[in-house]
Amino acid sequence: MSKKNLSTIAVRGGIENDGQYNAVVPPIYLSSTYAFEGFNQKGPYDYSRCGNPSRDILANTLAELEQGEHGIVTATGTAAIHLICQLLKPEDLLVVPHDCYGGSYRLFINLAARGAFKLKVVDQTNSAELDEAFAQNPKIVWVESPSNPLLRITDIADICQRAKQCNALVAVDNTFLSPVLQQPLTLGADIVVHSTTKYINGHSDVVGGVVVTKTKELGEELAWWANCIGITGSAFDSYLTLRGVRTLVPRMKQHQENSLKLVQVLDAHPAVKQVNHPSLASHPGHELAKKQQLGFGAMLSFELKGGVDEVTQFIKALEHFSLAESLGGVESLVCHPSTMTHAAMDEAAQLKAGITQTLIRFSVGIEDGDELAADVKQALDTL
Ligand code: PLP
Repeated sequence: MSKKNLSTIAVRGGIENDGQYNAVVPPIYLSSTYAFEGFNQKGPYDYSRCGNPSRDILANTLAELEQGEHGIVTATGTAAIHLICQLLKPEDLLVVPHDCYGGSYRLFINLAARGAFKLKVVDQTNSAELDEAFAQNPKIVWVESPSNPLLRITDIADICQRAKQCNALVAVDNTFLSPVLQQPLTLGADIVVHSTTKYINGHSDVVGGVVVTKTKELGEELAWWANCIGITGSAFDSYLTLRGVRTLVPRMKQHQENSLKLVQVLDAHPAVKQVNHPSLASHPGHELAKKQQLGFGAMLSFELKGGVDEVTQFIKALEHFSLAESLGGVESLVCHPSTMTHAAMDEAAQLKAGITQTLIRFSVGIEDGDELAADVKQALDTL
């Protein structure tokens, strides 16, 4: 079969696969259990924690979008991250970035504190820190690029090359870009993780996750663990998420177009101290993003001049942005990472990661871009 374009994969996942009534859209299989064909004769499915047809369609579609061999759909993005941790024994070292999603950071440090594995937190954009980490023969290197909320860009291909030399696996959290804008497996990574809660579902009405592996073997090992620890996603959530996936490509296009308009407004305004978005030539990861990404993405953060009072006033003045955690939905969101998404990091860890009190993050939605830009401008003008 010819190699399919991402839009075709996303739209056609599971379409016309219904053998019973020729339904174009695949039916949803809510049954928790499946009858055996006879004594000791299991059919393709037996129990929905282990396997479910609706979940499998989503898993296969996401694996194809990421160019991987195996997809495992989990109940949340955090469950997907936890699943990767099952590969680690107490003597194994996990290397993670100092500015990853706060919930990932919380999971890693608390599992490590209980002795599940050894942990090293590094600035992955700093070559010397990376050298030191690789000298300790890690088992897994965790990458999040662009990082949340600072939008730092990590050289995924370089990390993968270094990792190969010490037989380490590289797992990339690709939540911020989706497979439409970055495909880590093609850059040499072994595992891709998503919080499908975000762009993949795209409508802020499902919490879910996925793990996609480069090899079938690793996928099967992780699928075994997913069933064993009971973190597979539900049929209904899978159905909704697949519905969202069908529009992933055009949504990402609109998200990006709108974000560029906001970057322009923010970058030109005197009330703004700094804008973090890889589209800016001044961004330290600009050239790298051009090389390894298929677009600059629609997440951005910025620091206001002044203090918490200015932050409060600005957020209050915004009309088209909801003050809420999460990202990647069709609606625009504004968030204060220090007190919201990254509150699980203590003050010292936040400061080390560069998360200040005046840092604000936007998840730019797909509303009218000019209206969003005008809204941000009027809110900045109040300062
Ligand atoms: N990874 C990233 C980059 C995230 O932003 C989040 C949640 O915000 C997660 C993982 C965790 O996903 P979930 O909230 O679906 O458990």
